[in-house]
Amino acid sequence: MTVRDIGIVATTGRPAIAGTFHPLVLQPTSFCNLDCSYCYLPDRRSRQLMSVSVATACVRSIEQQGSVHPVSVVWHGGEPTATPIDIFRELLAPFEELQRAGRVRQDPDQRDAHQRAVVRSVRRL
Ligand code: SF4
Repeated sequence: MTVRDIGIVATTGRPAIAGTFHPLVLQPTSFCNLDCSYCYLPDRRSRQLMSVSVATACVRSIEQQGSVHPVSVVWHGGEPTATPIDIFRELLAPFEELQRAGRVRQDPDQRDAHQRAVVRSVRRL
């Protein structure tokens, strides 16, 4: 699977992911347990999760663009820390090789935020 397999935006006929990009905002889930009155996400009650094949397609797209600049991967939502930690680890795994090569930059605070959120929720039990 590559970026072209993810899909085409119907209204523009263009690929859902641009051929070259530096920031990559990923939504592991649109679910959010909050209900802010100003929220723009219609699917915030959906518990559907990003699949590993989508994460892998994003990695292939980064490889294919061959940029000399690292791509900044931002895990966004919904509430990304609502993603079950095992699934989140599976989604992070495809990016690890590119990260070691310096071609992907993931904010360590974001990656660690999920771990901290899980630890906090377990302590509350
Ligand atoms: S996704 Fe953001 S804005 Fe929407 S309900 Fe959750 S915290 Fe609020």
